[in-house]
Amino acid sequence: MEKKNQAKDNCKYVFVVGGVISGVGKGITASSIGLILKNRGLSVTAIKIDPYVNVDAGTMNPTEHGEVFVLGDGDETDQDMGNYERFLNINLTRINYMTTGRVYQSVIERERNLEYKGKCVQVVPHIPLEIIGRIKKAGTNSKADVVVVEIGGTVGEYENILFLEAARMMKIENPKDVIFVMVSYLPTPSKVGEMKTKPTQHAVRALNTSGIQPDILIARGETVLDSKRKEKISLFCNMQSDRVISAPDVESIYDIPINFEKEHLSDKLCEIMGVACKAPDKKSWSAWSSFANHAHNGKNTVKIAMIGKYFETGDFILSDSYLSVIEALKYSSYAENKKPIISWLNSVDFETHPNKLKELKKYDGIIVPGGFGSRGVEGNLRAIKFARESKIPYFGLCYGMQMMVIKYARNKLNLKDATTKEVNPSSKNIVIDVMETQKEHLKNNSYGGSMRLGAYKAVLRDGTIARGAYGKKEVIERHRHRYEVNPAFVGDLEAKGLVFSGRSPDGKLMEIAELPKKIHPFFLGTQFHPEFLARPLSPHPLFTAFIKACISKKK
Ligand code: GLN
Repeated sequence: MEKKNQAKDNCKYVFVVGGVISGVGKGITASSIGLILKNRGLSVTAIKIDPYVNVDAGTMNPTEHGEVFVLGDGDETDQDMGNYERFLNINLTRINYMTTGRVYQSVIERERNLEYKGKCVQVVPHIPLEIIGRIKKAGTNSKADVVVVEIGGTVGEYENILFLEAARMMKIENPKDVIFVMVSYLPTPSKVGEMKTKPTQHAVRALNTSGIQPDILIARGETVLDSKRKEKISLFCNMQSDRVISAPDVESIYDIPINFEKEHLSDKLCEIMGVACKAPDKKSWSAWSSFANHAHNGKNTVKIAMIGKYFETGDFILSDSYLSVIEALKYSSYAENKKPIISWLNSVDFETHPNKLKELKKYDGIIVPGGFGSRGVEGNLRAIKFARESKIPYFGLCYGMQMMVIKYARNKLNLKDATTKEVNPSSKNIVIDVMETQKEHLKNNSYGGSMRLGAYKAVLRDGTIARGAYGKKEVIERHRHRYEVNPAFVGDLEAKGLVFSGRSPDGKLMEIAELPKKIHPFFLGTQFHPEFLARPLSPHPLFTAFIKACISKKK
């Protein structure tokens, strides 16, 4: 009889580590490796390790760390988890994500519960052992043939040393089951005009000092890695040259698995892991390729304004904070043979320069995504009113839905001080109120992991845009919020034409608000985050409905 909770005897672990600099596509590499292995008939899961002390990503500012990606079980994680879910078309859980904080937290909890039976609990080996336990459990839980484990940061940093130590221990325990892929950057300094391998050589040595030798090196760079430099890396980094894979910059991340397969990466990985894999699945590969091709179709565009505030850092614009929204827009646009052109507009600008509102006319659609706090709220409210009055398709995601309701209450119920408790707790008309269950958390400053998080069911009203888009009566969507539409205002809002087309099964929580199609082509907001469930080959129905409305507006 098969024992429960036991990893497949032959489960393989592919560790993906970073050399030289971060932010050059380690997450996409890990996702792409997962995809090409999946396409060879292997079942794959993925783990992200973030070396910071935060227990999860939920308490971090998105401009610091990018998007907080919410899993079905409510875990607030790194945006790479979204990449894994999207590339692999799987749903991950809490065990697939770990941080230094999370690992220490469980070791300390266990120590307090006397689970170490009086032993001295030490950083080594107990921390790496906890890490190993988690990695194996993720494999067991999903019955995976292969677990892709991405270790955040770059080699040689203090922060990830214990994770590398865990990987090394796994390798020594089962040498055939553990392999290492290093993603390293080869700069081409403009004054030198030549791609340099030396930083990568140093990175491999740094990894060697952790007792680890990479099996595969993904050579990231502006351009293709030529054979001369491939040989150099091979010689000085101690690896066969055919295991050095060129990974030049690409226009679209969805080309990366395709490029990897041009270098026969799945063959090489399977050979190193010693697994018998199937021939590539032609049908699903051609589906992926034709999806990826859409990114290169630049002729037919749909112009979307994204109004937010988490994308400016110094002189740079970081759209990472809304990564899942951007990807969701791509999938739905590609399915309609369009390419989305997204413009980033700062909500605060509509407060300081109200005449900028007119510029919104040039867009086919407007999105106000999720957010927190009061900065930019008035600007958002103005933009939403403009979208409603000018009949520009509008899609509000979480905060974007709450603001749509606030503005409607101000304009149609004549409640000039209508607001959310998050912005002004002393207002008389708190249209968006704190949830009962949240009051205690706020009183105790207990912010981490305490919002309404993860998957909840919503029931849809017949005859609405939402019901038509989904084509079913009940849906499950992922949430991340503390505030809700105040039930005391629902009757009045509906009497004035706003339709709450999705509600929690008990009818108490408003999940979707919309205006009927005869009043506005698309004016809809969701309390949940639909973007977390959009997948390359199965676009999200509400994003698709929004994009279709944008395309019709264009005509
Ligand atoms: N700040 C709002 C709330 O907590 C919306 C959150 C969000 O947009 N994710 O309810």
